[in-house]
Amino acid sequence: MLTLKLPDGSTRQVPAGTRPRDVAESIGKRLAKDAIAAKVNGTIVDLDRELPGDGASESSFAVLTPKDPEALEVLRHSTAHIMARAVMRLFPGTQLAFGPPIESGFYYDIDSPTPITEADFPRIEEEMRKIVAGAEPFERFERPVPEARALVGDLGQHYKVEHIDDDLKQYPTLSFYRQGEFIDLCRGPHIPHAGKVGAFKLLSVAGAYWKNDNTRKQLQRLYATAFFSQKELDDYLRLLEEAKKRDHRLLGKQLKLFTISPIVGSGLILWMPRGAIVRSILEAFIKDELIKRGYQPVYTPHIGRLELYRTSGHFPYYRDAQFAPMYTRPAAGALDLCQYRLSAGVLDETKEKNVHDYMQLAHFVPEGYEKATPEGKLEVVHQYAVKLLNLLQVDLPDYHKATSASERAAALLKWLSDQEGFLLKPMNCPHHIHIYKAEPRSYRDLPVRLAEFGTVYRYEQTGELNGMTRVRGFTQDDAHLFVTPDQVADEMRANIDLVLFVLNTLGLTDYRVRVGLRDPASGKYVGSDEVWNEAERNLLDIVKASGMSYTAEQGEAAFYGPKIDFVVKDCIGREWQLGTVQLDYNLPRRFNLEYIGKDNTPHQPVMIHRAPFGSMERFIGILIEHFAGAFPLWLAPEQVRILPVSERFTDYGKQVEAKLRSAGFRVSGDWRPEKIGYKIREAQLEKIPYMLVIGEKEQSAGTASVRERSAGDLGAMPLDDIVKRLTEEASQRRLKSAEA
Ligand SMILES: [Zn+2]
Ligand SMILES: [Zn+2]
Repeated sequence: MLTLKLPDGSTRQVPAGTRPRDVAESIGKRLAKDAIAAKVNGTIVDLDRELPGDGASESSFAVLTPKDPEALEVLRHSTAHIMARAVMRLFPGTQLAFGPPIESGFYYDIDSPTPITEADFPRIEEEMRKIVAGAEPFERFERPVPEARALVGDLGQHYKVEHIDDDLKQYPTLSFYRQGEFIDLCRGPHIPHAGKVGAFKLLSVAGAYWKNDNTRKQLQRLYATAFFSQKELDDYLRLLEEAKKRDHRLLGKQLKLFTISPIVGSGLILWMPRGAIVRSILEAFIKDELIKRGYQPVYTPHIGRLELYRTSGHFPYYRDAQFAPMYTRPAAGALDLCQYRLSAGVLDETKEKNVHDYMQLAHFVPEGYEKATPEGKLEVVHQYAVKLLNLLQVDLPDYHKATSASERAAALLKWLSDQEGFLLKPMNCPHHIHIYKAEPRSYRDLPVRLAEFGTVYRYEQTGELNGMTRVRGFTQDDAHLFVTPDQVADEMRANIDLVLFVLNTLGLTDYRVRVGLRDPASGKYVGSDEVWNEAERNLLDIVKASGMSYTAEQGEAAFYGPKIDFVVKDCIGREWQLGTVQLDYNLPRRFNLEYIGKDNTPHQPVMIHRAPFGSMERFIGILIEHFAGAFPLWLAPEQVRILPVSERFTDYGKQVEAKLRSAGFRVSGDWRPEKIGYKIREAQLEKIPYMLVIGEKEQSAGTASVRERSAGDLGAMPLDDIVKRLTEEASQRRLKSAEA
């Protein structure tokens, strides 16, 4: 017998081999009808999968229905099978690669004899509708690896054969799902039958490499989505449409805010004059606020010595997210990579994949590495290091004496530590720490609050880059606070307050708070358990005391300490992680920071890292989407445009322009001999908040006719009134103009 613990806390005894479907039926007819899959001890399984177990231990058990987000994933993966089946019918000979669910739907990578285009979508969807109407079941079966390999070979699926050879040989059996004539190698789970698919739509087709490896064959990636109901799909498509209109990459181009040039480099933002205005206003806004709150501005350079980052732990912990270190001596770069791989040791499959991804990014994959066994890989790297040492005439007796990978790594590290090397700054903290250390500090000096718009660099994969929101160089509105342990709570509160002030000013009022704790199973953190426990406890106390609602999530901490992130919903409901406040007891220890306490002895300060915007690039990218490019008056690159109805009024127009400019507004005039309607339309498209239309009547009365971007015509007003009205709106940082 097997004991199942249900979500309501009750338990149920069932014989081993019972199917989740039977359990659902025994609970209720309705539940059985709605059931999509089951969750057993945290694993999602098919309704027909027999429950294992000897009855000794209790299993948690839940039936998943369309209400559960996990059920949606099962549905989408199942719809990927249905899409592949439809494609196979219409494009015989198509090779299938991978077809997983993703956040917004699913995709399937395919290699079709005739490339698929969007024009084919309607007939693929038509075929899928037939399959859904047929409501055939998804049937699971298993085969030992050799038979499984033979089966996918018979099905003509060469990518699947390769997948088995590369990644799945170590399993005793492999599972398949059959749906009518369609069989796919698949781990599952799946919906009970195709009829559960409520609504779906093919969205786009793009190029994708086999196993995301750009040295391999290029395939086609068919993107689609699926839901349990048509209404959910309609809502999603509406949101997609709205998001498209707001896409900061398109608006950024259209409104001339920023550009990215492959010649300069992918992921490196070039701020055009209009975007630079928005950024400088936001920076000034923050700078003023920081001065009021007792911060001191500092400036630091864009690079630092590797030693600095070895001390902080930024290197090599996060090297897979950094630009390659710059060594003065060429041999050091290559030996550094050998050291990196040797020190990692023998790795399991997942870790090896991460390391291998990085090695490919760094163009460091010695010959024979990929095919070698886990231990053999270290030998390949070792042989490569020996070749380098000889070739580049680096004399390193310690290396040759060493017998294990870890000893070899240690010998290389010792040598590398003596080499001059620099890193493009991945974070500003170590630089600020050395400003703190530059003078003796007493408890009377604390808190020391150092602020900088510091530019940092991350080596994101090309495929991950996205406009301004995923970039390789960005500027944080960063600051580091050095405080006594007694000051931690007050300073954390003040920083939470600052983040909220910033978000409220920009109308980002729908947010939630996420407390990022460490993942105890991961090795990517510096510092002892005691220090972490204390930091996490303190941070949770502060958040609880603030009364904000929050969720605590493991694995979301910074590598030196726990943090609070503000996750903001924009006006169309999408979530973005923005401001962050982080508590750190570890870097002060690693850098031996001190202040002299009341008792005249040295004490260790605590650090707070925080950035209310996060990064200027990302924040402004999100703001562009939030405002759909229509910035409020105080932020708009061009606030007012003068529009004379004919050239006869240019002189008066220029007087109006001069008056507004001297009042501090960013104003221009459209002096072209175009029709007034055309000029208005253009200013409207450029999302200029105010247009001042000028003709005979306005000139003789000394007025201008005011048009507001969204409210339209507000009628003629004396110039002084216009200046007063706009000055009020801008200085109060109003998000919307007042009605006429
Ligand atoms: Zn599958
Ligand atoms: Zn920092």
